[in-house]
Amino acid sequence: MRKLPFNRPHTTGRELEYIAQAVEGGHLSGNGPFTERCCRWLEARTGTKRAFLTHSCTAALEMAALLTDVGPGDEVIMPSFTFVSTANAFVLRRATPIFVDIVPDTLTLDPEGVEAALTRKTKVIVPVHYAGVGADMDALVQIASERGLFVVEDAAQALMSEYRGRALGAFGSLAATSFHETKNVISGEGGALFVNDPSLVERAEVIQEKGTNRQRFFRGQVDKYTWVDLGSSYSPSEINAAFLWAQLERAAEITARRLELWRRYHVGLEELEQREQLRRPIIPPESTNNAHMYYILLRSIEERSRLIARLDRAGAMAVFHYVPLHSSDAGKRWGRVVGDLEVTEDVSDRLLRLPLWPDLLDEDIDRIVAVIADGLR
Ligand SMILES: *Cc1c(COP(=O)(O)O)cnc(C)c1O
Repeated sequence: MRKLPFNRPHTTGRELEYIAQAVEGGHLSGNGPFTERCCRWLEARTGTKRAFLTHSCTAALEMAALLTDVGPGDEVIMPSFTFVSTANAFVLRRATPIFVDIVPDTLTLDPEGVEAALTRKTKVIVPVHYAGVGADMDALVQIASERGLFVVEDAAQALMSEYRGRALGAFGSLAATSFHETKNVISGEGGALFVNDPSLVERAEVIQEKGTNRQRFFRGQVDKYTWVDLGSSYSPSEINAAFLWAQLERAAEITARRLELWRRYHVGLEELEQREQLRRPIIPPESTNNAHMYYILLRSIEERSRLIARLDRAGAMAVFHYVPLHSSDAGKRWGRVVGDLEVTEDVSDRLLRLPLWPDLLDEDIDRIVAVIADGLR
């Protein structure tokens, strides 16, 4: 039987051609013509003021943490139900992650949890758009603007998704997205920082260029470039950008195919949900779906373990997701918890992600659905 890994990186067919062009063009370091194309595309697509390519979403989050100027004693409110980089980026600045709960429908940051966690030291709120579905940005942006806090969106999974008709990644002062091979649009390892607050653009350029004013030098605004601020090496090479361009060009088609497969799962599993054997993802009316992930919520951790084993025997790899950060060693050392995080703990025990990649066949989905139906009988 055909083996179905959890993810298989999809290529559009032009990646090598564009990499060859980059090599022939003689500009291999960062911020060349392919980077330029990718950034302008991302800006046009999301409406962000400025997009910067980075080596990863992790790197983009680190740039965002530098741009918010957080330091020791400052508090950054985020879900515990997220990837480690959401927290690490701020811990590297010696700020304290404050872990709060998620809401049960979209599994994103709970605005009431955020309210309860606010203190005089709060400086940043970090919503994570889990599975590419928007967090409650109406409420979160309002809380932040009333108190003059930064919003940094972890939009790692959210490219091509919208909330109230606006792209995710365009709501916070800053946002980070990912092109890791497990995401929808990929470059192996890669990411981007979106700077929506125009007053942060120039400093973002400096931070990306090792803390120098090299970009101003290229524009002829200074006559030599020098060290002016904190920074690091955040630009990917043109080889990565060339690969990414071949993907961005096809982002609409990639999303459309993923959506077909997502919907096939959704229809196929409807009856099991009606029988209360599982719960399917919820896409609220204000949100669109980029089909980053298809997950199901089972009734118990034991049932999930049995189903993982059963799917594995049938050749399909299904995986659970985050170990909540507040329960991890590093999370306990560097973070704090506000609230009981009941939803986080419950969901992390019961959530199962199913294989979803563009080259899956409709029959593959049907086969997986049949194994699930059998397993839950
Ligand atoms: C994938 C992911 C990241 C990290 O992305 P990288 O590009 O691998 O650094 C961060 N946050 C979330 C929510 C993610 O899903």
